[in-house]
Amino acid sequence: MELKFQKKEIDMKCLHCQGTMEKGSSPLHIDRKGCHLTLDHVPAWICAQCGEAYFEEAEVIAVQELIALIDQKAQPLVANA
Ligand SMILES: [Zn+2]
Repeated sequence: MELKFQKKEIDMKCLHCQGTMEKGSSPLHIDRKGCHLTLDHVPAWICAQCGEAYFEEAEVIAVQELIALIDQKAQPLVANA
């Protein structure tokens, strides 16, 4: 899984094409130990030019907490392969 995020202090320009970033949302897929979670609309900055999505720190932290919970709670539900 790849989480990209751009600090707020930085002028919001796309790292790929220097396009203008617009506040929007992006789907996010999390794959953990046989457990797959899809969030359809995570708040994000979207490049108006190439569509690249960047998540802010608050969302990245929330997602990391969610992953930690999944690791913990899904363990009894995942049989060893
Ligand atoms: Zn771009």
